[in-house]
Amino acid sequence: MGDIVEGKWDCPLCGSKGILGRHRTCTRCKKPRGKVKFYFGSSSEIASLPAVTDAQVLAEAKAGPDWYCGVCGGGSSATVSTCMHCGADQSLSETTDVLVKPARFAPEYWADTPYQPKKRWLSPVVMGVFVAVNLILWLWWGFQEHDVVGQVVSWHWEHRTVRDHWSEVVRSDWESGLSPSPVVMPVNGRGERGGVQNIRHCRQEIHHYERYACGTERVCSMQTRSVSCGTEESCSVVDHGNGYGERTCSTVTKYCSESYEECHDETKYCERPIYATKCDYDTWVWLEAESRTTSGEGDKVYWVEITPGERDRLRKLGTYEVGVEYVDRDEVCSHTLELSELDTYLKWNQQEAALLTVNNFGGVTAVRFVK
Ligand SMILES: [Zn+2]
Ligand SMILES: [Zn+2]
Repeated sequence: MGDIVEGKWDCPLCGSKGILGRHRTCTRCKKPRGKVKFYFGSSSEIASLPAVTDAQVLAEAKAGPDWYCGVCGGGSSATVSTCMHCGADQSLSETTDVLVKPARFAPEYWADTPYQPKKRWLSPVVMGVFVAVNLILWLWWGFQEHDVVGQVVSWHWEHRTVRDHWSEVVRSDWESGLSPSPVVMPVNGRGERGGVQNIRHCRQEIHHYERYACGTERVCSMQTRSVSCGTEESCSVVDHGNGYGERTCSTVTKYCSESYEECHDETKYCERPIYATKCDYDTWVWLEAESRTTSGEGDKVYWVEITPGERDRLRKLGTYEVGVEYVDRDEVCSHTLELSELDTYLKWNQQEAALLTVNNFGGVTAVRFVK
């Protein structure tokens, strides 16, 4: 048989906590103690509780659970037959079979656990789904497109004339990809081939790096494990329902966490260079020798003329920009249309208006002629 220890209870009416089991009225609000839940703490807390020794208290504690008054609802010791709070007879509670009918007390008074307001937070999952759905709807809305008519306000062109000269150069490359071939000179800037000639000065160079296994290395890390480390008292209490309970303790194996080093071998990798033969050779390429740029507005376009010499070629590079202004949702916006074809640019010079496809994010996805 175990010994008797005193429990604690919380007053559900005023929220007072940790009232000793001996008190049948709240020490703060003085209300009678109804049916409450007694608690005795954790195993180690139970082990350190002092045992009850007073003979009268022991007798009361062992008498059995409290009975509850049919008039005031308060609990009284099994050793008495009239209510310790209001003096009503115990028969009232037994005959009426109504333990819980106290109009003057709040209903929570009779709850086993103190009243706690329910938390009405949305769960993280619901919040996440809500955010995701809104994001999808917003993206869907944003990429919806509509057409607006805009006005063509500017035309800009830039022309670059480049003269390349067919020149002999020295290059180097991996020997495996080199085979001698003759040079073919261009005729009127066309039909040329650079050729590979005079392969020389071959040497070893690093082509790439290779990974290979080069032994093992020991890798260690700290781990924890549970090991038995002596014994400890494990205690529990049988609640007697009157503020006291019977304590029983037993000796159990105690477990402690222990850290240890765990090691294992891992394959180690090294890198080594792989060599290949590289050679110099002569070849012919186009090198840019001269570049002349001109620009302007509108459709009066022209190129700077360069007279090509022997073994020259000319390249003509044009970039064109058409500026469009439009009103979208009461806001004046501008868009620059970048073109690479002169023909298209000249067609835009005949246009006063443009049809733009705009999405709700303000991005322009297409610009077309107004028919
Ligand atoms: Zn109270
Ligand atoms: Zn009573």
